Amino acid sequence: MRLEEALKKYLGYETFRPGQKEVIETALAGKNSFVMLPTGTGKTVCYQLTGYLLEGAVVIISPLLSLMQDQVERMKAYGEKRVIAINSFLAPQEKVAALRRLDQYKFIFLSPEMLMNDTVKGRLKQLKIALFVIDEAHCISQWGHDFRPDYLALGDFRADFEYPLTMVLTATATERVRQDILLQLQLNDAESIIYSVDRPNIALFTRRYATFKEKKAGLVELVRELKSPGIIYFSSKRLAEEFQQLIRSETALESAYYHGDMQAESRMMIQQQFSRGQLDVICATSAFGMGIDKADIRYVIHFHLPGDLEAYVQEIGRAGRDGEKSAAILLYANGDEMLQRQLADKDALDPALLELPAELVGSLPETEQRMLAHYAESGLSKGAIRKRLEERRHWKQQNLAAMKGYLETEGCLRAYILRYFGEEAADKEQQPDCCDRDGAEITHYFGTNERRNEQPDWVRYLDELFVGP
Ligand SMILES: [Zn+2]
Repeated sequence: MRLEEALKKYLGYETFRPGQKEVIETALAGKNSFVMLPTGTGKTVCYQLTGYLLEGAVVIISPLLSLMQDQVERMKAYGEKRVIAINSFLAPQEKVAALRRLDQYKFIFLSPEMLMNDTVKGRLKQLKIALFVIDEAHCISQWGHDFRPDYLALGDFRADFEYPLTMVLTATATERVRQDILLQLQLNDAESIIYSVDRPNIALFTRRYATFKEKKAGLVELVRELKSPGIIYFSSKRLAEEFQQLIRSETALESAYYHGDMQAESRMMIQQQFSRGQLDVICATSAFGMGIDKADIRYVIHFHLPGDLEAYVQEIGRAGRDGEKSAAILLYANGDEMLQRQLADKDALDPALLELPAELVGSLPETEQRMLAHYAESGLSKGAIRKRLEERRHWKQQNLAAMKGYLETEGCLRAYILRYFGEEAADKEQQPDCCDRDGAEITHYFGTNERRNEQPDWVRYLDELFVGP
């Protein structure tokens, strides 16, 4: 059967998107792969179709619980019943039952923490594993933005399972991050399948404001004018909530906020409402977006500087998956980088904790405990660990400086991104609406949102109160 026929038969699609076929062919030839496809290319198809064409189970390691749930729900919605996610969403008895029936599943999603669980590992050992997938692989890297020590043990896991066929997927990784991922996974024979991070239909804009207050007003103005739907990213949960309220009171747009502290059901509900077109704007933290299957997002605004360009490119990549023109807008007010610097420091393990007496370690937050445990097991000396932490801190600062450079460059924003990822500059002929440095106008992205010109709820309410309906 030709691959196109298999695609039609199993997944109902007529054609592959760029890169998908090459990735599947590589896996079917029994070769490990490191795959970088831009956000929105449909990486799920790569391992799903490969899975159908091979005997045995596909084990997918996924970094975010909500993403994992999404993928499972979507596969089920398309008629695949043999799919399960083993994570903390399962009640203990459900987990026991799922593990008992594990051989009946074709697609098994796991968090890296779950993979380190001995019962889970023991059960997986009894299965035939056709393909081992690591999704959003930049999270593995020491230099990724979501450092979790359990990821560092994935290499040992592969060794333990006698190096199963492995597919590593990511949307953004610089050469350094790529090398680090391959090292962590003990994967020295992977074929690299790398596609450009560039998304020509997304025009790039930056906007600078003198003060927070001006930036706030600027945001409301943009949201009112831009053609929706759109996502606005904030670096704090509190601000995501506050701005959603602001947008609700200042515009007639339907909006919601989204962050990791919300109940899984509320998060799911908002994702669904957004996907169905019932919401114009989502005010979110970076927890929103991985796995969002919505093709017509018209803009992505960042209210704060993201920690690095990898995160930025990934987040703006959620716009315009339908290929229609879309806008990515980065807002900045003087002093914003201070906030990022604080976040970066907060995120890193404080070297002073290495001196903490063992009996006090138990009272630390779980992430710190795991990191300390990881370092304790690594056999590294305290000096060596300190050096690593210092390197990591330095790396984060460099990332932030690169992000700031994007904001400050007078040259083409797209060329800046491509240079960062070690790519050739894009062909200007192909990109009439490239970036604001090259003359792209934000007004081209304004539109008539059906609800935009209506009056806000409170005006309507007052009208009804005093004038009658
Ligand atoms: Zn440009």
